[in-house]
Amino acid sequence: MTGPCRHEAAVPVDSVVTGTTLAYLCPDCGTQLPDDFGAELAARRALTARQAACPHTQETADITQWGGSTIARLCQTCGKTLSPPHTT
Ligand SMILES: [Zn+2]
Ligand SMILES: [Zn+2]
Repeated sequence: MTGPCRHEAAVPVDSVVTGTTLAYLCPDCGTQLPDDFGAELAARRALTARQAACPHTQETADITQWGGSTIARLCQTCGKTLSPPHTT
C-alpha cells in the first residue's frame, strides 16, 4: 500500500452499555478514530456513490494548464476530476 491509510473500511465501535458509537476503528491500520469520523466517512461514501452514478456528460469545465492545454476536466455535477480527453 502506498500513501497514508484513508481508513475506508473503518468500523464503528459501539458502547455495549448505551449502544452509541464511541469511536471508529480501522481494521487495515489499527488506528482508532474519533466518533465524528463516521460523518466524514458517510460523506465520503456518498460522494463516491454520486460520482459512480454520474455519467459526467454535461456541465464539465476544463482545467487548463498555464499555456492553454487542457490537463483535465472537472464534472460540475458531482465534482469529480476526469481524465483529459485523448488527443489524436
Ligand atoms: Zn486506516
Ligand atoms: Zn460527474
